[in-house]
Amino acid sequence: MAEIEVVTDGGSARRDVEEEGDQRRQGGGGPAAGEPDPVVDVYSAAAYGDLERLRGFVERGGAAALREPDGNGYHALQWAALNNYPHVALYLIEHGADVNATDHAGQTALHWAAVRGSTSVSDVLMEHGARVEAADVNGYRAVHVAAQYGQTSFLHHIISKYGADFDALDNDGRSALHWAAYKGNADTIRLLLFMDANQVRQDKNGCTPLHWAAIRGNLEVCTVLVHAGTKEELTLNDSGGLTPVQLAAEKGHRHLSNILSNAIKVSFEDKFFPGRSRKIGYAPFLFAYLVICLILFLNSIVFAPNFSRITATAGLWSWAAVSLFFASQVQFYRVSRKNPGYIKANTKRLDSKEPLMEIDLTNSSWTGNWSQLCPTCKIIRPMRSKHCPTCKHCVEQFDHHCPWISNCVGKVRCRYVFLC
Ligand SMILES: [Zn+2]
Repeated sequence: MAEIEVVTDGGSARRDVEEEGDQRRQGGGGPAAGEPDPVVDVYSAAAYGDLERLRGFVERGGAAALREPDGNGYHALQWAALNNYPHVALYLIEHGADVNATDHAGQTALHWAAVRGSTSVSDVLMEHGARVEAADVNGYRAVHVAAQYGQTSFLHHIISKYGADFDALDNDGRSALHWAAYKGNADTIRLLLFMDANQVRQDKNGCTPLHWAAIRGNLEVCTVLVHAGTKEELTLNDSGGLTPVQLAAEKGHRHLSNILSNAIKVSFEDKFFPGRSRKIGYAPFLFAYLVICLILFLNSIVFAPNFSRITATAGLWSWAAVSLFFASQVQFYRVSRKNPGYIKANTKRLDSKEPLMEIDLTNSSWTGNWSQLCPTCKIIRPMRSKHCPTCKHCVEQFDHHCPWISNCVGKVRCRYVFLC
C-alpha cells in the first residue's frame, strides 16, 4: 500500500504547553510550602485564573504584555482559554488583548479553548469578535481541534451557536469527522453524523473516516460509521488501493475486518427483496420446519392405520400435542409480526436536504448523553433504547434482534417471547 503518513494531532507544541498548563493548574490553590510561587507574570496569572494578581501586574504597567506573546510564543488569552477562565479572558480582552492573536503555530485562543472544551470562554471570545473559522498552519480550525480532543459539547456549541462549518477541511483534506474517527471519539462522530457531516469524503491519501477508524482498529467507531453509512464507503479504495476491510486486516485487527467484510456482503434478502425495511431472518424456515414435523406426526402416528389400537390416553396426548402446536404457531406469528417498540424516525429531518446545525436539546428524552443521538433515525432516543441495524429502527428497551422470530426483542416483545 502507499505509505500513509502517521497523523499527528498537529498540536505537539500545544501538548507540551498543556502539560505545563496542567502543572500550573494543579498548583492553582497557591504554591506548596517550599515551592516557588508559579504566578510570576501576566501569563502565569492568566493560566492560573488569578485575576487579583493579574490586575496588579497590569496596573503596575504590564498591560503591554497582554498584546505580546510570552517567551514560548503563547498569549495570555490562550492560557486563560485553555484553562477555562472566562472572567480572566474578559479582563484580558477589555485591557487590550487581541482575540484573534495567533501563536507560532497559527493557533488562536479559540483553538486552545477547543482543547479542553471551554464553552464559556468561547462565548467571551466570540462576543468580542473571534473568528470561528480561524485556521492554524495545518489548516485546523476550532472544529478540528474539538474533534481531535473529543470535546463534543464544545463542538455542538460552536456549530449551533456560531455556525462553525463542521465539514471544513484542513490542509490534508481532512474534516472533523476524519479526526474524530482517527482519535476514536465515538460520541463526536455521532454528533457529526447526526448533523449530516460528509461520511464519504476522501482526504489527500484517499482515506474516508472509515479508513482511519479501521487503521486504528476502533470497533465502536467503526460500528457507528457503518450503521449510519451507506455501503459506498466500505468499498472505496485509498490512494494505495486498499479498502477499510483490507486496512483493518493489514493492521492486525482481525475481528474488525471480519465485521466490516460481513457488512459488505450483499445478503440473499437484499438481493431478492431490495428496499425491505426488515430482514426475513430464519422465521419462515423455522415455521416450515415445524409444519413438516406436524405433517410427519399426523401422517405416521395420528392417521396411521394402527392408531385405533393404541390406548385412549396416548391418543388424547397426541391430539393435545397437535392443539398445542397450533396455539404456539399463533403466538409465534404474533411475536414475529408485532411492533417491538419502534421509535418513530424523524422523517421530516431525513427528507431535508439542508445541513442540520442545531439539535433540540430541550427534548424531554435528552439526559445529556451524546450516545442518545441516532444518526440514522435523526432522533434523540430515550435511555435504554438502541438502533437495530437489521430492522433499521430505534427500539425502546432494546434487548437484541432475534433471527429466529425475525424481529427485535424490546419493550413490547419481552412478554410475548416468554409466552411463546
Ligand atoms: Zn435509530
